[in-house]
Amino acid sequence: MKKGDKIVGIVLLVIVVIALGATSIYKASIKGSANIAVIKREGKVIKTIDLNKVVKPEEFTFKTANGHFNTILVNHNSISIKDADCPHKECVKSGVISKPGEMIVCLPFKLIININGQKNNGIDAGTF
Ligand SMILES: [Zn+2]
Repeated sequence: MKKGDKIVGIVLLVIVVIALGATSIYKASIKGSANIAVIKREGKVIKTIDLNKVVKPEEFTFKTANGHFNTILVNHNSISIKDADCPHKECVKSGVISKPGEMIVCLPFKLIININGQKNNGIDAGTF
């Protein structure tokens, strides 16, 4: 009986260790995946930023042909429109985006920022 308990204990411990290991590998693979912010105006890509590689906050100002602007603030793994002179500032009010699939649109200036998640396929390819 006592021996059996010990075996059950060891089996449980092994399961917990495997589960923790799998979780940390999963987390590492998420961490390794790129978060690419794509900034487009009138359908054309004007800038792409790998948000994973941003180490300090940076600002970019994009001016339209007729003198309007969008100021974009980039942080590690997040991006937002900090300021703009569009009429309703919907893009500024959209706040910060940080996950693949999220989007900020400035309709008056035809500016779109979206985040493309790209899985790091280095794990399978063995390029480490
Ligand atoms: Zn706007």
